[in-house]
Amino acid sequence: MAGIYERIPADEQPEEKPEQDDSAWIEDNDPGYETLPGCRPPSEIQPITDGEDDPSEKEDPYMFIAPRVPEPLTNNNNFVEHRPKSKLSTVCTGRRRVMGESGIKLGPLDFRKLESVTASQRTKWGNFINPWDTWKMPSATGVLKWKLCSKNNRAIPSKSVLDKTLPIVSPNIEEWKTPPSSGIRVSWLGHACVLVQFDGITILTDPIFSMRCSPSQHVGPKRYRGPPCDMYDLPSIDAVLISHAHYDHLDLPTVKFLNARFGSSLRWFVPLGLMNWMMKAGCENVIEMDWWQENGHPDHMKITFAFTPTQHWSNRALHDNGWYLWGSWCVFGPNHSFFFGGDTGYCEAFSQIGRRYGPFDLAAIPIGAYEPRWFKKPQHINPQEAVQVHTDLQSSASIGIHWGTFPFGNEFYLDPPKLVKEEMEKQGLNPDDFFTLNHGESRLLYEETLDYEDASTMCETGSEGDIPPDEAMFEESGDDKSMII
Ligand code: ZN
Ligand code: ZN
Repeated sequence: MAGIYERIPADEQPEEKPEQDDSAWIEDNDPGYETLPGCRPPSEIQPITDGEDDPSEKEDPYMFIAPRVPEPLTNNNNFVEHRPKSKLSTVCTGRRRVMGESGIKLGPLDFRKLESVTASQRTKWGNFINPWDTWKMPSATGVLKWKLCSKNNRAIPSKSVLDKTLPIVSPNIEEWKTPPSSGIRVSWLGHACVLVQFDGITILTDPIFSMRCSPSQHVGPKRYRGPPCDMYDLPSIDAVLISHAHYDHLDLPTVKFLNARFGSSLRWFVPLGLMNWMMKAGCENVIEMDWWQENGHPDHMKITFAFTPTQHWSNRALHDNGWYLWGSWCVFGPNHSFFFGGDTGYCEAFSQIGRRYGPFDLAAIPIGAYEPRWFKKPQHINPQEAVQVHTDLQSSASIGIHWGTFPFGNEFYLDPPKLVKEEMEKQGLNPDDFFTLNHGESRLLYEETLDYEDASTMCETGSEGDIPPDEAMFEESGDDKSMII
């Protein structure tokens, strides 16, 4: 008898032809594409109507959302086996799909979606592969050569020294409880985990609170800087973004904890191929997405999430090569936008993302684990390439992530932020626009409120003429303590 999480064999899947309207979006010889969980053609994605037929909402190109109720946990979930299997050879194309003018469904007036972008790619056996010429799969001999022959310059010192050079600060957990009324608050929780709050939503990226990123807590890479807080200190999380399945980005104990604590009010945004893994972990409110797909959050109707490419890989074991896709996430609210890069080598993806979705108010870009270059370059950008990504994305402000926590790259442990600053200066950019935070530290960007003292100072210096501050500054907001600029 089939268990609740067992996938239905491909040859037992009901054969559903894609609708004629979407034939350009789904290739004719790719009938399995639409059966992939979470990978629906745009025609099946319901525009937000809130029960009302509001034409103004239909005009918003980002207002697409999946059905409110998650797919039920039944045997009829039509999960397609993603692992290599000969029967799937007719289901998955090995060719590069490019969506463009006749491809992805366009939002009205969003001319940027006319430009072609690179779609995800699979082998004829169904394994995800990188479509980028800049990719090279790390080999076992490469790993051995790196571990045995490359010079290790990390020089990670004792805890007492680390407490001075790479301090862990106690986060302001009271402040976390409410997203900022204006602006974006970003907090670094170590490695690629950031807590981002804006436009009323609270998002966590690639959360890991375990000591080791490994299948076992007895062996494997161990963090040299602990988490800045307990998971119980976290505020109510609306959405978690998972970039890929590597253990330092998808940590089972953390996933289980967050799921137990927040249940289905927390929506998990994951790459294609991870739905089954997430459901086995107990998560029900999961959206599994392909590159360039957009989706939403039932409790935050005005926020849109788009999954976008990176150049990486996503193994969790020796036998699961290409089972899970990898990528980055773009989040758009009414006032602010956020990009989460996860883990990546440099490739053409970032200029495509910048052209389609940029500029971004905030981008979280990996800056560490990049040495030695002969081995790490295809999968991890270095600080110089991170600045290029910042530029490609048209990011106004970027935070460096994926450094200072686990002993991965061979570079000196404090080099990543230092080299980012140097590269920003070299490129004639403002070094403050690409910053790093201490573990547990928060920063509020784009706060739009000035206090009374600032407003008075502006008036005294004549920046608003001779109009008294109570008339010049507060007349629009109607608030006697704040103003909108
Ligand atoms: Zn990775
Ligand atoms: Zn990583």
